[in-house]
Amino acid sequence: MTPPPFRSRREHHDDPRSATERDAILADPGFGSHFTDHMFLTEWTPDAGWHDARVVPYGPLSLDPATAVLHYAQEIFEGLKAYSHIDGSIWLFRPEANAARMRRSAWRLALPELPDEWFLGSIRDLVEADRAWVPHGGETSLYLRPFMFASEVFLGVRPSKHVTYSVIASPAGAYFPGGVKPISIWLSEEFSRAATGGTGAAKCGGNYAASLLPQQEAIENGCAQVAFLDADEHRWIEELGGMNLYFVQSDGSIVTPALTGSILEGITRDSILQIARDLGHEVIERRISIDEWRDGTADGTITEVFACGTAAVVTPVGALKWNGGQAVAGDGEAGKVTMDVRSALVDLQYGRADDPHGWMTRIA
Ligand SMILES: *Cc1c(COP(=O)(O)O)cnc(C)c1O
Repeated sequence: MTPPPFRSRREHHDDPRSATERDAILADPGFGSHFTDHMFLTEWTPDAGWHDARVVPYGPLSLDPATAVLHYAQEIFEGLKAYSHIDGSIWLFRPEANAARMRRSAWRLALPELPDEWFLGSIRDLVEADRAWVPHGGETSLYLRPFMFASEVFLGVRPSKHVTYSVIASPAGAYFPGGVKPISIWLSEEFSRAATGGTGAAKCGGNYAASLLPQQEAIENGCAQVAFLDADEHRWIEELGGMNLYFVQSDGSIVTPALTGSILEGITRDSILQIARDLGHEVIERRISIDEWRDGTADGTITEVFACGTAAVVTPVGALKWNGGQAVAGDGEAGKVTMDVRSALVDLQYGRADDPHGWMTRIA
C-alpha cells in the first residue's frame, strides 16, 4: 500500500509566548527543559493508516490510565537537531537516516512504520511554525524529538491498534559552553544495557529505563556516563547509555565497536566513519575488549577515547573507572584527533565547511 502524500494542518495558537519571553529562554536554553509553542501530532490505526497530521499548540496529552504504552512500553523515539546557519537559513543533518532508523525501531517494537516523507514533513512543518525558536550562534540548535507510542486503551498484551506519533522541539545551548572537557566513564560490571536478540539496536525508551540504575551508580562514583559491555561474556565494549565509542590508536587508526545487533547504530557514529577517513585515518569496525581498553591506555597503544551522539556531538573520554581502579587515555585531556573530528563535524553542521557527502538538508 503506497502511503498517502504528507500534508498537515495547523491549528491556531491563541496564546504563544511573547518575543520577550522567548528571547529570555533562548539566551540560556540549557537542554531539554524548554519547549517551543507548537507540537506535531498524527495517529495511526490499522484501517485508516497514518492520518490527521496536525501542528497544534504545545501542551499536555490526556491519556487514559489503561493506555498501552504506560504498561508495556511500546515506544520509540529519535533525536536530531535543526541548525541555524550564518545567513539565517535552517538545516538538518542526515534526517533521512533518522527516518530510516525510526522505521527499523518501529519494526522491532511491532509499531507501524512512518513513511520517510511523513517523518521529514512533520519536522519541516513544526520548524516552520516555530522558526523563531531556532537559536542562533555558537553551538546552539533546536533539538527535535520525534516519538511514537502505543496509544490504544487496552491491557491485553499485543501490538497496539492505535498509535500516536508526535514531534516536540526544545532549544538547546552549547553542550560545552566553557570549552570541550573530557568526561569520566564508569564501567558497569554488573548490568547490561541490551542483550543478543533484544532491543539494543532500536531507539526505544525501554533501553534507557534499563540504563538508569547503572547511570546512577556512575554518578555516585563521580562519572558522567556509564560504559556497557556485551551481555553474554561481559567482555566486549558496546557503548554508553546514549552514545557510541571510538578509540584512537598510536598508529593513527581509529577503532569503533562493530555493530552486533545490541549496539545502537548512531548516525554520529556512522558519519565519523566517513569523516575520519576523509581526514586520512584508517577506520576499523571490530570487536574491542575491555582488557584492550585497560591495557591499551596503560601501554600507550590507545592514545585517545571519545564518545559521540547527536546531543553532545563528540565528547573526549578522560578516565574509565571501575571498582578499585581506573584507566586514563593519553594525558586525560581532549586529544588532537578527537578535536579534529569534532571540528570537522560541527563545521559541516553549521555550514562553515563544504558538504561533500550531501548530508545537509535545508528546511527553512
Ligand atoms: C541515540 C543513541 C546514540 C547516538 O545516536 P546518534 O544518532 O548519533 O544521536 C547512541 N546510543 C544510544 C543508546 C542511543 O539511543
